[in-house]
Amino acid sequence: MVCSKRLVENFQSIAKIGAKGAGITRLAFSDEDWQARTLIIKLMEEAGLGVIADAFGNIFGRREGLNPESSVVMLGSHMDSVPQGGNFDGVTGVLSAIEVLRCIHEEKIENSHPIEVAVFMAEESSRFGVATLGSKAFWGKLSPAQLKSYQDKQGISLAEALQERGLFPEKIGDGQQPSIKCFLELHIEQGKVLETKQVKLGVVEAIAAPSRFRVVMNGEADHSGATPMNMRLDALAAAAEVVLLVEKLAGDEASYGTVGTTGIIKAEPGVMNVIPGKVELGVDIRGICLESKGRVIEAFRSGLNAIAMRRKVGFELVTLTDEQPVALSKNLAELLSGLCQKLNYSSIVMPSGAGHDAMHFASHVPTGMLFIPCRQGISHNPAEYADIKDIAAGTEVLYEAVLKLAQADFRIAE
Ligand SMILES: [Zn+2]
Repeated sequence: MVCSKRLVENFQSIAKIGAKGAGITRLAFSDEDWQARTLIIKLMEEAGLGVIADAFGNIFGRREGLNPESSVVMLGSHMDSVPQGGNFDGVTGVLSAIEVLRCIHEEKIENSHPIEVAVFMAEESSRFGVATLGSKAFWGKLSPAQLKSYQDKQGISLAEALQERGLFPEKIGDGQQPSIKCFLELHIEQGKVLETKQVKLGVVEAIAAPSRFRVVMNGEADHSGATPMNMRLDALAAAAEVVLLVEKLAGDEASYGTVGTTGIIKAEPGVMNVIPGKVELGVDIRGICLESKGRVIEAFRSGLNAIAMRRKVGFELVTLTDEQPVALSKNLAELLSGLCQKLNYSSIVMPSGAGHDAMHFASHVPTGMLFIPCRQGISHNPAEYADIKDIAAGTEVLYEAVLKLAQADFRIAE
């Protein structure tokens, strides 16, 4: 049986790591992140799992199956956080998966397929500007060039961060991919749909993956007193137009669920008496409708060009990530919905606005996601909170699903 008390204790233990200041700060490969990883390994071992790590530091807790050669039923998530984030984003998926395996271990259930709990490193983009790095590495989607070019604010590259932790950037993509039967990720919703509709659980049908851009506007840094208004090349004024352009374009496509955000703005030299000569923006555009998102990106590119031309400033546009919206397995969604019903938990089928590690599995293996409501939809914030009753409900559904999926004769038709 899923043990709520044990789940609460594990949430409390992990909340102590990275709890300096407000909320939780466990940036990818930081000391806090590494301490949390160590704790998770201990919890995996207590659940009777054999733990291995890959070249990127992703960890896998494995319960052998009666037929060790058969494909793996994999479940998991991440445990890094944004700066001053919460203790539920990612952690809920990791701890619920470990709880499921702990129950199976204690109940000495005979599973035919091996079952693995995966914890992917560097899911949040806060440190290197790119999300879901661990699950990308797992599928060999990180090139040596990317490992060098992705850098944090201190100029430390992802490859260097890996080396500092004794990991092996040069071996990423070399490893033998295990044969995987399916992948399941439980996660907090990070929105308010479930809470508003007063539904216990969400079964995810598709993930709206982000496209992200770094925009640099290059004007001229001149004296703010001595330069007349008509002689300026103000990079920040141009950037302000770009910010509003993103908002307008995404707003025009709101009926498709497409959203656009400028979350980073850095003006140089950043003093009162100099006209900003250079401004960097970070832009994030997402949606579950590929066509709608494509229209926004195209109009963004041409609008950016028009603003720069009109204002006679230069610009650079770098695409950091360009993920496509991902459909999840219909059959796994049906299984999860059916189990919610069986256990008397209300559920709805819904899209995910946020990206998740699961999206990198969907094109390879049947993939499913289950959402837990979080209070007021707040996430990436110290106020992030999920009720243990909801977490336990999701964990029970996950447990039932894993028991079925780990049976040799349970096939997932596609
Ligand atoms: Zn997450």
